[in-house]
Order: sequence, then structure tokens, then C-alpha cells
Amino acid sequence: MKSFKYLLLFVLILSGAISSFSRADERKLTVLYTNDLHSHFEPHIVPWVSKTRKVGGFANIATLVKREKASNEHTVYFDAGDFFTGPYVSSLTKGEAVIDAMNHLGLDAVAAGNHEFDHGWKNTQYQFAKAKFPILNGNIFVKDTGKLVWNKPYIIKKVNGIRLGIIGLHGKFAFYDTTADEMIKGLDARDEEVYLRKYIKELEGKTDLIVLLIHQGIPGTQSSGGTGDVARNHKKDIELARNVPGIDLMVTGHPHSGTPKPLVSNGTIIVSTDAYTIELGKLELIYNKETDKITSHKNTFNYLFDDEVPDDPQMLKIIKKWKDKVKTITDEEVTTSSTALTRSYSEESLLGNLVADAMLDAFPGNDFAVTNSGGLRQDVDAGAVTVGELISAFPFPNTIVQLQMKGSDLREMFEHGAGLTNGILQASKGVEMSYDESKPIGKRVVKVEIKGVPLDDNKTYKVITSNFLADGGDGFVMFKKTLKYKNTQIEILDSMVKFLKKFNRYEPNIEGRVKKL
Ligand code: FE
Repeated sequence: MKSFKYLLLFVLILSGAISSFSRADERKLTVLYTNDLHSHFEPHIVPWVSKTRKVGGFANIATLVKREKASNEHTVYFDAGDFFTGPYVSSLTKGEAVIDAMNHLGLDAVAAGNHEFDHGWKNTQYQFAKAKFPILNGNIFVKDTGKLVWNKPYIIKKVNGIRLGIIGLHGKFAFYDTTADEMIKGLDARDEEVYLRKYIKELEGKTDLIVLLIHQGIPGTQSSGGTGDVARNHKKDIELARNVPGIDLMVTGHPHSGTPKPLVSNGTIIVSTDAYTIELGKLELIYNKETDKITSHKNTFNYLFDDEVPDDPQMLKIIKKWKDKVKTITDEEVTTSSTALTRSYSEESLLGNLVADAMLDAFPGNDFAVTNSGGLRQDVDAGAVTVGELISAFPFPNTIVQLQMKGSDLREMFEHGAGLTNGILQASKGVEMSYDESKPIGKRVVKVEIKGVPLDDNKTYKVITSNFLADGGDGFVMFKKTLKYKNTQIEILDSMVKFLKKFNRYEPNIEGRVKKL
């Protein structure tokens, strides 16, 4: 009996030792994450978050990252791309200001997004060279050299004894879908899945956890409203995790659709934010080194309200420095607007009308003008309209293109818009289009009239649009069937400024140009 007692004691001590051993081997890792920062240096009103309280901004993110890293050294901060293009300071410096600010944001690694290519890929390389944090991409190549456009597909980083293999990729489809053709001429985006498998294999045995920073999926809805179904928006991420085993964590961007509750697919934890610095996600992981498994995760996902977080003073200085540099351009007042110029992804919008009308006004001998909803990035407030606001609203260096297109191809073009994957086409005066969302994609357009006459499939029309759309951007590939193509080299933004200057007071209305039935 006595020996049994000793045996029991021995077993108890042993099991205690084992459990304390495995507990000791449970390691904490905190991952802060963002995506689609889009140069939102300053807090701003996002109507669907709050009509009165500003959210986001780099100075608030900098404070939170510093705070988190100071309170817990096992903290990393990742971003999944699209930091360029948004409020004017990015466009006017071709991203330079953004890289400078990000150098002080406490980032450990980021993936390159499509908008990093908005000023051409040579500019991408030029600006990336100024980054003091790793920018990762492993599947966009330069055709001539066969080398990656940027030098790093992945890095290995050790945190709390956990070896992280951090890979950066861009969805091939998303890349071609949402970059302007001429900006990426000479590049070759290759299948992300093939390269993901390759890099995971290369990292085998050298790392404990695989973190994928990726930019892919359906583009973010550009609307003054919010986004919809999170799982639907991240379908591409869910599928990728299903197809490629071995990804422990995926930080993803492009759909602008946040994950208050992380998605889990095939054991991969998938996280993302709603873009524009609205949130700084925080994912706390427990990793068991013994079993090589993430045993638990907790996601903290809150709106970053400006009135709750103090500004980082160093970041404020950087922001001021860049704003001052471009002040003489951005402060110029163009006109006064009687109402806010808002955006919509599914219907006519006042900002969409302005862009299309301005383009047609620059080349009045044409039938009508159209522009993509995805190109409208920020509302313009009522009251004084400045050049800075217009750049922020339309931050692309796109030019006006004149096309001659067959009516049947134009019908197809309106159908693609009505499919809503990339948003409806915003149209100039003279267009009346309506569609029925309950009908299948490709058969939704109910009515198209040009200057009061139904669209004739056999007639040729003179159409004005952006070089982005004319080259087939946002899936509008039917523009490539144009019978004539003339790039005027006039920037759309310049046409907007010129057009608005004609008005002492701009008083736009919704006129029934693009209607959802
Ligand atoms: Fe994107």
C-alpha cells in the first residue's frame, strides 16, 4: 500500500511537471494589423461609423502601436497593402509622404497593394527604396529581367522565440483588375497560389508559423455607405486557405471589409480591417511550441475614435511637414457647393455626376461620358470646394480618352456595371440608365437612353472615359472593342477644376441618370 502511495505521488509530480512544462512552452504573440490605409493621415468622418466623431489617422495609430509595443514586447504590426492613394498628400508626392510617415508607424512588415502602382511601377520601386520597414511581394515580376519588381518575397522574424515566416503576395486577378494598364506595362503578375506553395516549402523547417500578408479579392466598395457581407467579401481568402495548407495567419486587404470576428478556413486565421485607418486590429495568439499549434486566439477590433486616443506628437509633425509642402496647391478654392458631393457604388451620385460632366465639358462634341464608381475615393463637403478636396475625391493621374463604340458593346459595358462587382458606371448628363438587381448578372439593364433615345445596338457612339476604363480596368474589358481610341492627355482632375470654376455656386441634383429599380 505504501509503495502504491509513493507511485501515486510520483505520477502526480511527473504529470505536474509535464503540464507546467507544456504551459511554459505556451508562448504569447500579439499581432496588430491594418490594410488599405490609403494615406489617411488624419482622422475623418466615416458616416456609417459615426456622423459626428472622427476616426482613424496615422497619429492615432502611431500612439496605439507604441503603447502596445511598450506594454508587451512580443507584439508585431503588419499591414496588407494599399497605403498609397487617398487624401491628396499621397497623389501630390506620388506616395513619398506616405512612406515617410510609415517609417514612423512601428511596422514590422507590409505587403504591396495595387495602389502602390498608381504612379507607375518605376515610381513604386523608387518610393519603396525609402522604406525603413520590409515591404514584401513574391509574385509580381519585371518581364524584361524576370526578377521580382521588389526584392523581398518573405522575411523570417523571431518574436518570443517563435520563428515567423512572413510572406507577401498580391492576388493576380486583383492586380490586373484594379491597376491602370499603362502604369504596370512591363510587369508580369503571376499566380499567387503557385508562389505561396513555393515559399511555404522554402520556409519549411526554418519557421514555426507562416504569416501571409496578401492583397486580393473583390475591390472595396467606394460608397458613402458601408460594406456588406464579410465572408462574401473575403471569399478569395477563404478559398486560398482551403487550397494551400500551412498558412497559420492571413492578414488580407483590398475588399475593405473588416473582421470583428476572425474568419477561420482550413485552420488558417484570417483577419482584415475596414480600411482608411478606421480600426487597428489586435490579434492575441497563444502558440504552443511543443505541439506546434496556435491553441487560442482573441481578436480586439474597435473603431479608432480620435477623441479617445491622444495623437503621437512626432507623427503630427511629419503630417504637418507634408501638408505644408503642398499647401499652395491644395488650399486654392474652386467654387462653393450647395450640398455635399457624395458617392454611391450602385446608383447615380453627385460626385460621379461631377466627374463625368467635367470630362464631357472638356470635350463637348461627344455623346456622353462615364467613369467608374471605384475611382471616387472621398466625399466633398458642402461649402467651399478646394483643389485639395478634389484631389482627395479623385486621387488618380488618369487622363481623358475619346472612344467610338458600338451600341451593343456599350450595352455590355452598362451590364458589367450593373453586375456591381466593381460598382456601377457613373454617367454624364444625357444618359438615362436603369437596372434590376434581382435579375441575373448580364441581364440586369432594363433601360438605356442616350439624349432621350434608346441605345441602338448597331449605331456607333462617341464616348468619353478615363484611360483606366478605356484600357479595361475594373473588369470593363468591353472598352477594348472600341473602334477608335484617342488619349487626349488631359487629366480628369484638371477638367474637374476647370469645370467647377465656371460656377459661382455649384448646385447639383440627383437627376435619375443611373437608377436601381
Ligand atoms: Fe486594393
